[in-house]
Amino acid sequence: MQTPAPVDYAKATSVAHAIELLQQLGDEARPIAGGHSLLPMMKLRLAAPEALVDLNDIPELQGVRIEGDHIVVGAMTKHRDILESAILHEHYPIFREAEHVIADPIVRNRGTIGGSACQADPAADLSAVGSALRGTAVIQGPGGTREVPLREFHDGPYMTVLEPTEVLVALKYPIRPGAGSAYEKVERRHGDWGVATAGVFVVVRDGVVADCGIGNAAVGAEHYCSPGAEDALIGQPATEESFAAAAKVAGEQCNPSADQRGPVDYKRHLTTELTLRALRRAAAASQGA
Ligand SMILES: Cc1cc2nc3c(=O)[nH]c(=O)nc-3n(C[C@H](O)[C@H](O)[C@H](O)COP(=O)(O)OP(=O)(O)OC[C@H]3O[C@@H](n4cnc5c(N)ncnc54)[C@H](O)[C@@H]3O)c2cc1C
Repeated sequence: MQTPAPVDYAKATSVAHAIELLQQLGDEARPIAGGHSLLPMMKLRLAAPEALVDLNDIPELQGVRIEGDHIVVGAMTKHRDILESAILHEHYPIFREAEHVIADPIVRNRGTIGGSACQADPAADLSAVGSALRGTAVIQGPGGTREVPLREFHDGPYMTVLEPTEVLVALKYPIRPGAGSAYEKVERRHGDWGVATAGVFVVVRDGVVADCGIGNAAVGAEHYCSPGAEDALIGQPATEESFAAAAKVAGEQCNPSADQRGPVDYKRHLTTELTLRALRRAAAASQGA
């Protein structure tokens, strides 16, 4: 089936307007961002919203900025703008590394960070990044604004904690002076969804891992994080042995399924190896290497 079912369409001009439209159009209305996940699902009749509320003309949802000690990324910021953002690159090179391996320029020119988060695909690269960085989702609805840690934003594969009349407005990431970060991904061909991925940040002080965050996509971790591996590393010396021990925990505690991308053991092995590589590079960057 290549043609979506008939659907009503409305263009929102502000977040308040989008919420108003979602309320008016009822529970079967959905926001549309870049459309790179929603439209294919509609064509395949895996999704059949009765109305679409277009978020593309809402200026307040665009762009990357610093607010106090956080970087704030508007939900409608496109992959391409994240790839090219000097602010993100200065504080967290992990974003550019992840964007380099997300799809292709056509997808990156329209797909958005908010759409990626709300689609909640277990293989979404930016969800692993957001969980690794312990970011926060800023959500607006009829009752006002609330913030949810990204590690609690996903409620299972393809599910989020958003109510039908709520809009994801931004994602916030704490700035951590001295942090190094890195992203690693194995894909079957360039730009494909990952077989397994690992994103990390590490802060090393006086040779000790003072803080770290570890996120893995495509290996079944519904919240894309590996707290057991983080616990194993924080407070340990920044050595190959410590990184290997933490990476081993990430591989053991992820929950992949066997599919056309490979069997479970292979994905666990990749998770361990990619986490190790990312930790090494992030720790070296934190130490100014
Ligand atoms: C060929 C191809 C390859 C891809 N490869 C990768 C890859 O390797 N790695 C990767 O991570 N991603 C990949 N993607 C997905 C890409 O990242 C998309 O951009 C992303 O899935 C959806 O973003 P979007 O802006 O197009 O969202 P849409 O398709 O417009 O929306 C997706 C969902 O989110 C909801 N939504 C969107 N924005 C909001 C909001 N602000 N508030 C509330 N709900 C909202 C919509 O209602 C819908 O349910 C690929 C996509 C394609 C088409």
